[in-house]
Amino acid sequence: MSRIVQKYGGTSVGDVERIKKVAERVKHTVDQGHQVVVVVSARAGVTNELIARAKAISTQPSEREMDMLLAVGEQETIALTAMALHSIGLPAVSYTGGQAGIMTDTFHTKAKITTINAAPIVTDLEQGKVVIVAGFQGINEQGQITTLGRGGSDLTAIALAAAVKADKCEIYTDVDGVYTADPRVVKDAKKLQEISYDEMLELASSGSKVMQSRSVEFASKYGVVFEVRSSFNYNPGTIVKEEVAYMEKVVVRGVAVDKDQAKVIVSNILDKPGSAAKVFRALAAANIIVDMIVQNVGRNGIANLTFTVPQGDTHKAQKALEGVLDEVGGGQVAIHEHIAKLSVVGVGMKTHSGVAADLFAALADAGVNIQLISTSEIKISVVIEQDKADEAARVAHKAFALENL
Ligand code: ADP
Ligand code: ASP
Ligand code: MG
Repeated sequence: MSRIVQKYGGTSVGDVERIKKVAERVKHTVDQGHQVVVVVSARAGVTNELIARAKAISTQPSEREMDMLLAVGEQETIALTAMALHSIGLPAVSYTGGQAGIMTDTFHTKAKITTINAAPIVTDLEQGKVVIVAGFQGINEQGQITTLGRGGSDLTAIALAAAVKADKCEIYTDVDGVYTADPRVVKDAKKLQEISYDEMLELASSGSKVMQSRSVEFASKYGVVFEVRSSFNYNPGTIVKEEVAYMEKVVVRGVAVDKDQAKVIVSNILDKPGSAAKVFRALAAANIIVDMIVQNVGRNGIANLTFTVPQGDTHKAQKALEGVLDEVGGGQVAIHEHIAKLSVVGVGMKTHSGVAADLFAALADAGVNIQLISTSEIKISVVIEQDKADEAARVAHKAFALENL
């Protein structure tokens, strides 16, 4: 007998009919002799709807109350999933994150899991019950409800798989697996049979929302091999695992687009030691994550800094920067939200040259202007105009012949 964690995302539990289908699949797994832990998300759209309601009441709602509100979405689906299992004769029990022993730190809306006391879940499994756990939530030491950041049910599933020592972790979604690009944007994107943790992490943190990036980080750290697959069919999905040597033969494995970034330009600041430190210290103090950074060559003692921040943080960034301009000799802040970040990712880049040149040439041929560039060992990212992002993704996909992968 093996132990399996199955996570069903928002579309997979999108309505009562879908929840019944989930129950059937769980029964199918139990009938094959496995112990099953089920993690469910809120119904598709519910978390967004709850956020919209909060914002209609207050522009800056309390983060504690936000978590209290957002945790509701998953509480609905765990109960309905348990009822669906009962109605087809399976013993099942639903738990909130806190009841499932998922402890987190105190950072409301983006809490990190600190420990999981999985013993009670294991006892339930051994007694023949299916255990259903609310994704995306936990509690902190003060007993307060916390949430794990958008897409956080992926993290719940992977962390539980590690905690209950599962033999398998399956992430069920509305696509057949991880593709070479978002299949809704690039029609001839190809499903990957497997992908390394590092590639999946770079794609996820570059805008491929098929997996939450923190969940991939966790899987890599604890060696949780998982499969991304569809709840709408029985096709095999994509295995995400440790890199193996042959993976380096493929130079580019995927393309990602992130339209949720904004470009910030801080111009006419003093070109002297300490200016950049002051600017980025101010952003860090406001808890803003900065991604790509470019500083131009200073002229006449004056320099400009350009970088990207999440679009949701632009107001906070503007305020934080205005507070520090005097200390760096004056200057101006300009924010451009109409941008996108396009990234190509592949472990093969470590051993192949010319990838950047090929990408830039393809974008140039398509008339796409590059505003910023950054590279890591296995990724090249460019900032471009947002309206051209989808076309640019198709162009990059073609340039590396990913449809033939
Ligand atoms: P869930 O609600 O199941 O967690 P998400 O909406 O979070 O599902 O993620 C699945 C979606 O991710 C797909 O519908 C697809 O449009 C999108 N996506 C983006 N990039 C990729 C990719 N490289 N491969 C597969 N899906 C992708
Ligand atoms: N319901 C949460 C969200 O929409 C968590 C998840 O779906 O993974 O972000
Ligand atoms: Mg998701």
